[in-house]
Amino acid sequence: MKCIFCEIVNRNSPAEIIFEDEKIIAFLDNKPFNFGHSLVIPKIHCEDFLSVPEDHLMNLISAVQAVSKAVLKGLNVSGFNIISNNGKTAGQSVFHFHFHIIPRFKSDKHKYRLNLKSYAPGEMKRFAESIKNFVNNQE
Ligand code: AMP
Ligand code: ZN
Repeated sequence: MKCIFCEIVNRNSPAEIIFEDEKIIAFLDNKPFNFGHSLVIPKIHCEDFLSVPEDHLMNLISAVQAVSKAVLKGLNVSGFNIISNNGKTAGQSVFHFHFHIIPRFKSDKHKYRLNLKSYAPGEMKRFAESIKNFVNNQE
């Protein structure tokens, strides 16, 4: 199956491209949360954040910062969200890794309805330990 974002990279599918360098391309999301909603992607096809090659990560993050600054200045907004959905469970629908940069307006009425949880006593430490064990042991 063809990847729509690779099609954009290869100019086989149209997009409003706002930034491009050797490794990265950014363009407008065609179904925006707010107008100016931008996507920043590595040109190389990789499914999710974990599969972005290490030598593309710095370029990617730098481009996200550059595009965020441009969105703020160009659209005269003072806030934005950076979002990345990884995996179907997390809502990913295009399986070519991307960061969303979403300009925010006071009047945009977008509200995240988060179902926040509370840790039972001692539980927070247990979760931290489960993660910590793997942070320094990345094979
Ligand atoms: P996600 O659901 O996090 O995988 O985000 C995928 C995003 O890609 C969605 O917000 C879509 O609106 C956007 N999208 C899909 N196809 C295109 C396209 N051809 N041009 C621009 N944005 C697209
Ligand atoms: Zn792709």
